[in-house]
Amino acid sequence: MSVHGGQLTQTGHSAEDRSGWGIPVPIDLESLNADLEDGQATVDIGIFHPSNLEPAHRQRVELETVIDGVLEARRIFALVGLQLAVVSVRTGLVDPELLVFHAEAPGSELPRGRYANLYKESQKRPSRLSSTALAALESVIGNGPDHDRRIHLVVLEDVFISFHDRIDERTWQLKTIATNALSFPAYTHRDTIPRHLRGVITLTNLGRPQSWKTVAHELGHKLINASHEYRDSDPQHEAYGDEGLLQYGSGTDIPSGRDGRFHRERLHRSPFIYRRDASGSKTWNPDYLDGGGYYDPIYEGLTVGFDPS
Ligand SMILES: [Zn+2]
Repeated sequence: MSVHGGQLTQTGHSAEDRSGWGIPVPIDLESLNADLEDGQATVDIGIFHPSNLEPAHRQRVELETVIDGVLEARRIFALVGLQLAVVSVRTGLVDPELLVFHAEAPGSELPRGRYANLYKESQKRPSRLSSTALAALESVIGNGPDHDRRIHLVVLEDVFISFHDRIDERTWQLKTIATNALSFPAYTHRDTIPRHLRGVITLTNLGRPQSWKTVAHELGHKLINASHEYRDSDPQHEAYGDEGLLQYGSGTDIPSGRDGRFHRERLHRSPFIYRRDASGSKTWNPDYLDGGGYYDPIYEGLTVGFDPS
């Protein structure tokens, strides 16, 4: 039943599309959302696709590829009872200086704390956005109704992050890498990102063989609020495996229960989820109670304790 699609043209979404950054891409959102049902757990997604990407880069992140990624994610999350609504697709010019940035503010040159596990260390010392990242996201995403409860897929040319490889007991090597996509999850940033921007996921390269999974994987980080982990494997900066959605590889499983690190249960606690009733009003999941770390009280009984790596 095309309940959501029908309402998209009647509610704030159409009004919102007449203001702010860029212009709406002429896509039939009603058809795109035709299968969504009232009463089901739902996440809204807005897509921002700059019109002035360098041609050599653009081929890696064509709008069509982004939408294909969302449709793949929709199939994966439907298996665990979550539907994805595409509520806005916009294009326009982005200040060329803001198309490339380093995600983190100065301070990221410091290695992560090493005496508690990754999530507890992030709780104490969350990542903060760089001023360029903030300016870029503000200029494209801006503010609007429900912006703090929506996923914003923002296509950019390059988003860099830095991390430290441990060489030995007292030596770390700083590496700066270009991300293919970045989810800015609450377990890393807590509430340091302005609320209306906190749903951001950047996409910079969907041109690799595994890219069909990228949008779903990043949505997984954001909505499950967990790093690269799966069953017996504790979270780490990079983790390969062909089973779980939160691993690199071909896996799409979102397991449940303690053995599954509560991924499915955590997903359904996400503050980005709502249910819409027949009158069109949305009931949101409760928001984070303590900034949104991995151990936030909304996940009571749905966390895993583990030692520092
Ligand atoms: Zn990842």
